[in-house]
Amino acid sequence: MLGFAWFEVGLVGLLGMLIGSFLNVVIHRLPKMLEAQWTAECWQLQHPDQEPHQATPFNLVTPRSRCPHCGHMIRWYENIPVISYLVLGGKCSQCKTMISARYPMVEILTGALYAYCAYRWAGVGKRLPGVRSAPPW
Ligand SMILES: [Zn+2]
Repeated sequence: MLGFAWFEVGLVGLLGMLIGSFLNVVIHRLPKMLEAQWTAECWQLQHPDQEPHQATPFNLVTPRSRCPHCGHMIRWYENIPVISYLVLGGKCSQCKTMISARYPMVEILTGALYAYCAYRWAGVGKRLPGVRSAPPW
């Protein structure tokens, strides 16, 4: 029977998958945010006497996630780490364009790393059935 310690490892793994989902946002948006900032700064250097125009906000929170191909706003149930990717068959629900496998891979990898850390360093591994001490690695 699976004990409470495995439940904890799984729970930490799920938390890691949520963090991985956020990392996907950072991976996708941070370069665009920096490019927009640099473009605005260059424009300001070329036009020092003009007021900078207000761009629509683009950061890690705003705007909501959209399909990069058709612009379809991703609903909350289309944004569940790994599960939504599998349910949607790796395609946008609107335009059926393939979604990069990078997204679930980052979520799975981050979840696995979190689960491993809980197993190895949070003492969960010592309480797992059949495990007398944490593994040597
Ligand atoms: Zn789409």
